[in-house]
Amino acid sequence: MGVRTNADTPRDARKARELGAQGIGLCRTEHMFFGEGRIDAFREMICAETKEEREKALEKILPYQQDDFEQIYEAMEGLPVTIRFLDPPLHEFVPTEEEDIEKLAKAQGKSIDHIKGIIQGLHEFNPMMGHRGCRLSVTYPEIAVMQTRAVIRAAIKVQKAHPEWTLVPEIMIPLVGEIKELKYVKKTVVETADAEIKASGIDLKYEVGTMIEIPRAALTADEIASEADFFSFGTNDLTQMTFGFSRDDAGKFLNAYYDAKIYESDPFAKVDQKGVGKLMKMAIDLGRPVNPKLHIGVCGEHGGDPSSVEFFNKLGLDYVSCSPFRVPIARLAAAQSAIKMAETK
Ligand code: PEP
Ligand code: MG
Repeated sequence: MGVRTNADTPRDARKARELGAQGIGLCRTEHMFFGEGRIDAFREMICAETKEEREKALEKILPYQQDDFEQIYEAMEGLPVTIRFLDPPLHEFVPTEEEDIEKLAKAQGKSIDHIKGIIQGLHEFNPMMGHRGCRLSVTYPEIAVMQTRAVIRAAIKVQKAHPEWTLVPEIMIPLVGEIKELKYVKKTVVETADAEIKASGIDLKYEVGTMIEIPRAALTADEIASEADFFSFGTNDLTQMTFGFSRDDAGKFLNAYYDAKIYESDPFAKVDQKGVGKLMKMAIDLGRPVNPKLHIGVCGEHGGDPSSVEFFNKLGLDYVSCSPFRVPIARLAAAQSAIKMAETK
């Protein structure tokens, strides 16, 4: 089980490698945008009202993303890196401070009131179940175009600099619940990637896969496997959507549930084998026969929890991914589980 890790920035990637990671199972691209200067361009993208405005902002973002991906590929020295396309609800990034709103208004050539109106329009009642994940790429395919260019251009550059490595970029589409969503976004990714590779003159293979984090994706995994090169279980979202409570709000009532002996432990920390685990098993059993080459991992927080890692090993997963500092524990748990399984054979 070639334990990977979650790394969102070049610094995370270097740390992960230092701690023994054998790849990156989840690079959350949105986390690259919090830095000085970057957030401005990102906010322009979010508050764009036309495709032209959005593309203009995306042009500014592209070099940042590409540069980060190059550094991540360099740090990982040819090991697998799974890059997840933009996932969170966009309102998480909009400015709340008056001076930031002013700055954005100036950059967009719009009035402050107009920008405030746009921000209000981004409000959602249930953001976690709202306009996020692949839904962003369906509504704004230009985001997927930019992210594909950044991944593929970075991989081409690093591959040319290191002919001894074999880079195979893994592009991961989040929050898919319906095969047609994946097909739709994948078409944009493939067209863009193939054009970049053709122009570069080198032969670069790449993969397009998806997260399994919506129960419907697990239930229809046979269909989804026909279009996916890999599955990665997003057990954070899969847990919250299976239980029907949010990971951000569950803290308010979970203690009462432990006291009442309804739950023994936090399902966001230790995977719920009975329910969430059953969905995972179903997805694996449905997906693998359709696509025998499908590789399958876990990238939710559970990837760093020893008892969950043992369970994932029994399910036959190829790797787990977790935060850099949990890599040593996850590797130890995976090794112990492999020994236990060999002993009982
Ligand atoms: C998940 O849902 O398990 C996941 C890894 O994604 P997020 O960034 O939503 O936690
Ligand atoms: Mg998720």
